[in-house]
Amino acid sequence: MSQDERDLPADPDAAIDPHLTFTVATVWREERISCPHPDVLQSYRQGGLDGGAAEFVKFHLEESQCPYCNAVMADLEARDSDAKSAELEDLRDRLLRSTVTALRQTRA
Ligand SMILES: [Zn+2]
Repeated sequence: MSQDERDLPADPDAAIDPHLTFTVATVWREERISCPHPDVLQSYRQGGLDGGAAEFVKFHLEESQCPYCNAVMADLEARDSDAKSAELEDLRDRLLRSTVTALRQTRA
C-alpha cells in the first residue's frame, strides 16, 4: 500500500546525514568516551608513554582538542611548576644554611 519506501534515494551517499560526523565528534567529546586517565596524561607529559599510547594521547589532546584533558594537562603543568619552585626554594634554604654553618665553623 505504501509507496514511501520506494522514495529512498538511490545514491547511498545521499542517505548519510551531513551532521552525523559532527554529532559523533560532539558526543565523543561530551561523553569523554575515550579520555585517558589523568595518570596516563601525566606519563605522557613525562615522556613515559610509547608508540600507540603516546600517539593516542597526542591525537586526543591536539586533534580532538578534548577540553577536559587539556584542562587536566594545564592543571598538571601548574602543579609541576609549583613543585619546582618549592624545590628550588628548599634548595636555596639548605644552601644558605650550610653556608652560614660553614662560615660559623671557620670563625670559631
Ligand atoms: Zn579527553
